[in-house]
Amino acid sequence: MHNKTIAQMSADLQSGDYSSVELTTHFLNRIEQHDSTINSFVTVTKEQALAQAARADEAIKAGAATPLTGIPYAHKDIFCTDGVKTTCGSKMLESFIAPYDATVTHKLHEAGMVMLGKTNMDEFAMGSSNETSFYGAVKNPWNTDCVPGGSSGGAAAAVGGRLAPISTGTDTGGSIRQPAALCGITGLKPSYGRISRYGMIAFASSLDQAGPLSQTSEDAAMMLQAMAGFDEKDSTSIDHEVPDYTATLNDSVKGLKIGLPKEYFGEGLDTQVGDCVQAAIDEYVKAGAEIVNISLPNTHYSVPTYYVVAPAECSSNLSRFDGVRFGHRCDSPKDLQDLYERSRAEGFGPEVQRRIMIGAYALSAGYYDAYYLKAQRVRRLISQDFKAAFEKVDVIMGPTSPEVAFGLGAKSEDPVSMYLSDIYTIAVNLAGLPGMSVPAGFVNGLPVGLQLIGNYWQESKLLNVAHQYQTLTDWHSQAPDLNAG
Ligand code: GLN
Repeated sequence: MHNKTIAQMSADLQSGDYSSVELTTHFLNRIEQHDSTINSFVTVTKEQALAQAARADEAIKAGAATPLTGIPYAHKDIFCTDGVKTTCGSKMLESFIAPYDATVTHKLHEAGMVMLGKTNMDEFAMGSSNETSFYGAVKNPWNTDCVPGGSSGGAAAAVGGRLAPISTGTDTGGSIRQPAALCGITGLKPSYGRISRYGMIAFASSLDQAGPLSQTSEDAAMMLQAMAGFDEKDSTSIDHEVPDYTATLNDSVKGLKIGLPKEYFGEGLDTQVGDCVQAAIDEYVKAGAEIVNISLPNTHYSVPTYYVVAPAECSSNLSRFDGVRFGHRCDSPKDLQDLYERSRAEGFGPEVQRRIMIGAYALSAGYYDAYYLKAQRVRRLISQDFKAAFEKVDVIMGPTSPEVAFGLGAKSEDPVSMYLSDIYTIAVNLAGLPGMSVPAGFVNGLPVGLQLIGNYWQESKLLNVAHQYQTLTDWHSQAPDLNAG
């Protein structure tokens, strides 16, 4: 049952093959059986899930179901959930219970989805390995000595290990695509402004975007349909038509122009990962697509640019966690200064503290022009590279991550090598474009991701192009054996 896609589950629920309560119980049992090893959930909402599932079954009987009614999902612990703890992977929010639902939460529940629980993540979404979580590292379901990627590591491991059929994630510099690649699943980061950020705890406001992590592109299309759309509660959400994302999945890729940026295939890319990505591109060529060699010349500035812009925004966003307005409060403070200092020192982990310090420095008088303003200018150049490329091609392809999942602890003492995990994903966020990762093979038993980058609002195109690959290959339907080893 757990290897089915949500498209199949939706049809099964409609035809009464099983109920949402049965389906939900099946996944709750799998979580109970395997999550002590994987650690993909911070909170499991068993009772609420069974109640939602029972309501979904009634809606299905009454003929009032949407395609998502009764489908269980795992929700990244960055989205506020009314009455359920929202930790953002931090000790700072260990006991935070939001008094309202994020817009994404609200929309998924309106559509009848069943929340299994909240997934583990890097603290405040800062990381590429899910090792910065206060709630412990998440293990890769393909090899539990390896990381699942981050920051949506719990979301990706849960779907990869089939502990949930689908999940939500957020992507500021790669946090949906990179863990999707490392866990062998499909992940979509939509265009900036496509999905409301209301009630999604902010890391870097000009980069953060929510999206689905799923087995297939079709499933991602179904979930995006419910998540997307303008929200007056989020001033950065954009009022742009939401198309029917499943309607164009079967369009042909004949004549599709695929751009291959030379900067994505050079030094730093593991050769075996490169071979898998090349084989995937060959499939498209066989199906009638054309290859166009392109250049994104400012690619090598994307990681340094991001590590000025993202910390600057986070230092501002995280100032609200001071033990007074929000978050952990230290015991018996001497005075106000002591309260702020100790609450923040106790509540935030080392990676979050490092980012806040870098950001505060980059924004300080005297350094603002040299770092922050300069970074914003380079950011514009990076966007212009993509703009020029999309005059010649329909989609851009390359690897999602330079290597497969690395060992737990392998990079945790070396932030710069960790930051380079996102070398191929970060520029997409700086430009605000949509990007996807789809499973494209294995190296040493660990999954490889193919990245697809589209022009603004081209989610339908990406989903279509990804779906076509998934009709030709079956990498996406392979699942790890959690009982082995
Ligand atoms: N790995 C990047 C970082 O640590 C991106 C994280 C994300 O996309 N949330 O900031």
